[in-house]
Amino acid sequence: MNRQQLIAQLARPVTYDVAIIGGGATGLGVALDAAARGFSVVLVESHDFAKGTSSRATKLVHGGVRYLAQGNVALVREALHERTTLLHNAPHLAQPLPFVLPSYRYWETPFYGAGLMMYDALAGKAGLGHTEFLSRRQTLACLPTVRAEGLKGGIKYWDGQFDDARLALALARTAASRGALVVNYCAATGLRHEKGKVVGLSCQDRETGAIHQLKARCVINAAGVWVDEFRQKDGEAIGRVVRPMVAPSQGAHVVVDRDFLPGDHALMVPKTADGRVLFGVPWLGKIILGTTDTPRHDLPQEPRPFREELEFILSESARYLKKAPGRADIRSMWVGLRPLVKPQGDDGDDTKGLSREHTVLVSRSGLVTVTGGKWTTYRAMAEDVLEKCADRRLLERTRAGVTANLILIGGDGLPARPPPMSEPQGLHSYGSEAAAVAALPGARRELAAGLTEAMVRFAARSEYARTVEDVLARRSRLLFLDARLAASLARDVAAILEQENGRDSQAGAFEQLARQYLAFPG
Ligand SMILES: Cc1cc2nc3c(=O)[nH]c(=O)nc-3n(C[C@H](O)[C@H](O)[C@H](O)COP(=O)(O)OP(=O)(O)OC[C@H]3O[C@@H](n4cnc5c(N)ncnc54)[C@H](O)[C@@H]3O)c2cc1C
Repeated sequence: MNRQQLIAQLARPVTYDVAIIGGGATGLGVALDAAARGFSVVLVESHDFAKGTSSRATKLVHGGVRYLAQGNVALVREALHERTTLLHNAPHLAQPLPFVLPSYRYWETPFYGAGLMMYDALAGKAGLGHTEFLSRRQTLACLPTVRAEGLKGGIKYWDGQFDDARLALALARTAASRGALVVNYCAATGLRHEKGKVVGLSCQDRETGAIHQLKARCVINAAGVWVDEFRQKDGEAIGRVVRPMVAPSQGAHVVVDRDFLPGDHALMVPKTADGRVLFGVPWLGKIILGTTDTPRHDLPQEPRPFREELEFILSESARYLKKAPGRADIRSMWVGLRPLVKPQGDDGDDTKGLSREHTVLVSRSGLVTVTGGKWTTYRAMAEDVLEKCADRRLLERTRAGVTANLILIGGDGLPARPPPMSEPQGLHSYGSEAAAVAALPGARRELAAGLTEAMVRFAARSEYARTVEDVLARRSRLLFLDARLAASLARDVAAILEQENGRDSQAGAFEQLARQYLAFPG
């Protein structure tokens, strides 16, 4: 992971089979699939891996039960299949999770129960557990702090949960172990065209400012909500007008302490006042409450929640929880931008109605753009991209399915029952790499519960971490769990990181960012 060596490789005059813009779930999934098929691969990420939407999910590995209500059976079936694959290939980072849907009206149990039975049936052998109808007493046993007044019973069903940013890292590192060159803090700045065809890209090392020219047979634009920037550049180069394809929609989350929802079951409210789903998910020692679906027209790297979104999450939670979380209880809040794909010609603002499916477009020049979809289906999306590349003869057709049983780094040889993901992070979060982490200097020095000096060293040496934010937001997840605690560790983490990397690790910028994760908008 030596940065100088990575950059030196970037400067080599080779022609890659595949060059990828964007190191989120989508780009990294393509990098791994292409590398596993034997293609030479380079991926550039302008910030850190998963700095965009891919570290800001609700952390569910799910089939998308609510898409069943929209009649989208194919989407749900694919996601259910991918759910199982992910749980199998990254058992240290993704696990089954039981959900309970409390019923306060008599019709709710049969109505939602029927849908969930269908969800089970679609999962077939990939099912994680059977849907069960619960009595009032059983519901309260699973969700002890749910409002008891008026409670009729509940329904329990199964989906999964995961650590999104660490999964992204596992994809990056597994792709690198298969020969892919993956580089963070390196922004694609332009596309290279010859005779109307895209033949590569230029990129800039954000640490030194050095520009590199990369040649590739196939360029994949996997920049999430930012894909239209490269579609525009491509259109300008070949003289075609390009209409934006992304309709960003933001989703906010609020994190509170476990005592608001103790136990190992997630709360699922299928229809909030605005018709959305609300989740209360136990995750790494805290509870995630969310999310929202609000159209947004700008594309900031660090989107801020709107006041109405937070008030909505708190007031909806208060309707279901005995002890209502208030502003002072918020440990962190974060926002992600969904890259929803709008039908061409649609400039409307109703993001709830937009498809959650992914889209792969190949332009006249051969630029392949992929966006939409969800984390759970990143692997199927990657297969689809490589299929489309073969259809357009940008790459040779190769056998699909090479990643179906490819265990990601850290996922092999684990105990049958690793600690649940509802428990705080710790050495177990590293899966089979735990011993390697524990062997580094500082393994006994805890900076905070679940974070040692050795983990920071491991982040720098093996996990591409360059800044305090990389460590405290995405290697450890403290920024997302407890922003105040994360800020208090910035200087300690910086000292270790600076020893490892020999450069400033931006502790001050992180402290400022952490304040943003706590500030309720005025
Ligand atoms: C609120 C919310 C909750 C969600 N919850 C779930 C969930 O529970 N389960 C689930 O399965 N899915 C969930 N999703 C969906 C899922 O998170 C996204 O579909 C997925 O993360 C998108 O990944 P991506 O790689 O396409 O985009 P991103 O993660 O945004 O990656 C794109 C990357 O491109 C980089 N980039 C941009 N410009 C450049 C450039 N010029 N050069 C190089 N790199 C560049 C960005 O920095 C970014 O890292 C959720 C989404 C949201 C918004």
